[in-house]
Amino acid sequence: MSATGNASSPSGSPSKSSLPPGMVIGPDGKPCKICTAFRNWKPRTEKPKQQTQSSSQGTTTPGQKTAAMMAAFATGTGFASTSQQTTTPAPTPAPVQEQEQEYTRPANCPPDVEQLGSATWTFLHTTAAYYPDAPTMAHRVNMLSLLRALPVLYPCSTCATHLGEEMKTRPPDVSSRGALSRWLCEQHNAVNTRLGKERFECMVEKLDERWKDGPKDGSCD
Ligand SMILES: Cc1cc2nc3c(=O)[nH]c(=O)nc-3n(C[C@H](O)[C@H](O)[C@H](O)COP(=O)(O)OP(=O)(O)OC[C@H]3O[C@@H](n4cnc5c(N)ncnc54)[C@H](O)[C@@H]3O)c2cc1C
Repeated sequence: MSATGNASSPSGSPSKSSLPPGMVIGPDGKPCKICTAFRNWKPRTEKPKQQTQSSSQGTTTPGQKTAAMMAAFATGTGFASTSQQTTTPAPTPAPVQEQEQEYTRPANCPPDVEQLGSATWTFLHTTAAYYPDAPTMAHRVNMLSLLRALPVLYPCSTCATHLGEEMKTRPPDVSSRGALSRWLCEQHNAVNTRLGKERFECMVEKLDERWKDGPKDGSCD
């Protein structure tokens, strides 16, 4: 994820540090909704007491910043972005009291970057787990088309850009089920690393257990 934070701003535009925490800016310089986790997008409607107090002292809450930024875009003044994408630092976990006040999202809402990502990884890893050990030319061609389409079509543009860069340095290996599963695992690990998440051990046995066979204790049978 490209960074942000305290970079100085171009003339007349707010600094990156004035963006709401975790908000991702797309290639067009505007906030990218499908690139942003919902918890970092939705302005908080109920403010914790402490924040209400500080806002009366002249500071702004993340929700207020979001609203101000949206207003800037709505009026065409926009937030300038110096790189193709920008992400403000993820917020530190909120205290329990604050978390309890957070908005609960209805299940039928459009996906955010996390829901879309999780669903996509599920599809890709499962498809790889059921890919033939000895794929035909048709299998290989179709799998390559599917994977090469992602950097072009994946709705989270910043994710797609990262994936495209990764695929340039490490092209897809569609030569067998094991090779494809490991390649996908490494791609997923590249994202995990970027997001500060735990890496998965890319052994076919582990991947099969997670995406095809379930644990040996039979708990998923
Ligand atoms: C192509 C792509 C690019 C993305 N790029 C970004 C991005 O740039 N920024 C961003 O914020 N989000 C990105 N995402 C979304 C991100 O990867 C996660 O899907 C999202 O943060 C939700 O994470 P999660 O913790 O629910 O688990 P996920 O990362 O969605 O993983 C789902 C499950 O997969 C298993 N798993 C984890 N790692 C591996 C692995 N290496 N191999 C096999 N199985 C594994 C685990 O059991 C895990 O519970 C991207 C998603 C995709 C598909």
